[in-house]
Amino acid sequence: MTGSRLVASAVLSPMGVSYGRNARTETQMDFALSDEQKMFAESVRRLATDKLKDGALKRAHDPSYPWDAAALIAEQGLIGITLKTEDGGHGGTLMDAVIAIEQMALVCPKSADIVQAGNFGPIRTFAEYGTPSQKAKWLPRLLAGKMLISLGMSEPDAGSAVTELRTNATEDGGHYVVNGQKVFGTHSRDAEIFLIYLRFGPGIDGIGSMIVERGTPGFTIGEPSSFMSGEEWCPLYFENCRVPKENLILGPGGFKQQISAFNAERVGNTARSLAIGRHAYNLARQYALDRKQFGRPLCEFQGLQWKFADMALKLESAQLLLYKAAASADQGLPSAYDTTLAKLACNQAGFEVASEAVQIMGGMGYSQETLAEYCMRRTKGWMIAGGTVEMMKNRLAEFIFDRRFDQRAPSREKK
Ligand SMILES: Cc1cc2nc3c(=O)[nH]c(=O)nc-3n(C[C@H](O)[C@H](O)[C@H](O)COP(=O)(O)OP(=O)(O)OC[C@H]3O[C@@H](n4cnc5c(N)ncnc54)[C@H](O)[C@@H]3O)c2cc1C
Repeated sequence: MTGSRLVASAVLSPMGVSYGRNARTETQMDFALSDEQKMFAESVRRLATDKLKDGALKRAHDPSYPWDAAALIAEQGLIGITLKTEDGGHGGTLMDAVIAIEQMALVCPKSADIVQAGNFGPIRTFAEYGTPSQKAKWLPRLLAGKMLISLGMSEPDAGSAVTELRTNATEDGGHYVVNGQKVFGTHSRDAEIFLIYLRFGPGIDGIGSMIVERGTPGFTIGEPSSFMSGEEWCPLYFENCRVPKENLILGPGGFKQQISAFNAERVGNTARSLAIGRHAYNLARQYALDRKQFGRPLCEFQGLQWKFADMALKLESAQLLLYKAAASADQGLPSAYDTTLAKLACNQAGFEVASEAVQIMGGMGYSQETLAEYCMRRTKGWMIAGGTVEMMKNRLAEFIFDRRFDQRAPSREKK
């Protein structure tokens, strides 16, 4: 990134004594988007404003996937931004995908789901680890915005403790026979293919993944259930479901191999939660300028001014952590610490700001006449999805103390 630049001009010891010139480290920190990034952000914003702004409220309250908007967004090259060009992607950076999510969310929050689904999560895992023939079969339609892939990790008894998942696969000739159940999958209602994590053997080394297609005998998609956000998810049941071996993505041990990739994946959830908090903030700001009570606009009441100051502080500080995580991931650095901090900060800021925006907008904020209450409901979900904020804090504690803290109950067996 280029732009305004701070250069540390002196290094002082704790006693205020200047170190020798040779010891001087030059720290460069850029806090602005490059000209290309700004142009890209403006073009996404223009697209969203011209084509998607009008239907934003209706889209948010409709549980179905907005296929028309997905086709448009794909046509404009906003699906597969970070995927390799040889796979049909655009070879962009994680930061580009973050910018696209942000700009879209500021105009049409629901359309930001499309940018997220087309750039993060199962589509990236699939593009990274899928075989050439798997990619040839499914990627073109995924990238055209005409098909969805849903991630099946969580199970009724394996949430935060996801490595305790029990859905299992056993080999049988040219197939795997799969048994188990999955819950809460985003887009599980509409997806055509499912990236399912399952167990080939005991322990974390026994976990891998495969693609299961809708309609495979023995695979039942249950009745939809609603999240607080209005999004629907379906329980997935596998009963002696025969999945061809060519659908294998990662065999036993694959889960461990993939763990570092999850850091980058978290950036998508993180970007969306912050941007949707900012959407609510913008609504509340305009409302405070326009709405009058006691003969004055709301923005003149100090009780509300201080709320805005707190909200701006939360948004701006979380934004820096988000950009730091995305930029460092683009440089290929192991950024588990950065992504964990960013997810925690953005998830909390997004929800707290959206919730405060509803309060500031009073009855109007609480009503479905505006997107403020939708932003509040959505941002709550990202404090749970993709690793809860409590689990993020557990991870941070491990970085802080440079120790692993096993969350499992100690064995009760006497040695
Ligand atoms: C909007 C949304 C979308 C989702 N999309 C998907 C998806 O696409 N695919 C998928 O597989 N799953 C998905 N999930 C499921 C999500 O990953 C799980 O909900 C999440 O991992 C938490 O698991 P759980 O709900 O079983 O809660 P639990 O693990 O039962 O946790 C309950 C509470 O206990 C806390 N807790 C648990 N363990 C600890 C601990 N050791 N220390 C401190 N606190 C702890 C949690 O933080 C939480 O507050 C989604 C969830 C939501 C809300």
